[in-house]
Amino acid sequence: MFSGKTDSLINRFERALANGTSVVAIKPARDGRYAADRIVSHSGRKIPACSVGSVDGVRSLGASGELVLIDEIQFFEPALGVSLKSLRNQGIEIVAVGLDRDFRREEFETTAQLVRDASSVVRLIGTCSRCGGDASLTQRLVEGTPAPLDAPRLLVGDAGLYEPRCERCWIEERRDAG
Ligand SMILES: [Zn+2]
Repeated sequence: MFSGKTDSLINRFERALANGTSVVAIKPARDGRYAADRIVSHSGRKIPACSVGSVDGVRSLGASGELVLIDEIQFFEPALGVSLKSLRNQGIEIVAVGLDRDFRREEFETTAQLVRDASSVVRLIGTCSRCGGDASLTQRLVEGTPAPLDAPRLLVGDAGLYEPRCERCWIEERRDAG
């Protein structure tokens, strides 16, 4: 997280607009942090988008564009890969971004599936907000303390605080919290 994923999607959107490419931007309906009709980056940039609740919805809506952009893919079911294959077979280009691991360091299945199927993959690295090093993990904090690893992966209306962490800080912080 905080690695510029959404900004990279917004850059692609702006390039497509400049080229006259018809673009459809999609985000999962469960990502309720912002208004349903736009994708917003941590730096505050935004583009118009549709909130979609199902992978079938992604397939039907995506078919109306030449380029499909998808944010937060980890919140879709793993069958998203099937919908995207169908769109690719129609000659539609797809750019999808998301987290590869949850706050417990476990893989998001949907992201893993899409990485296996993708024609190219770019791994973005954030900055650890504890030490300033390269962050590939996410810490979920509850009142300043790492959430227990047996907490649910996703909370509805998630009020938890998420911060990027390098692996060393992720481990140390959990150890120090006991
Ligand atoms: Zn660190």
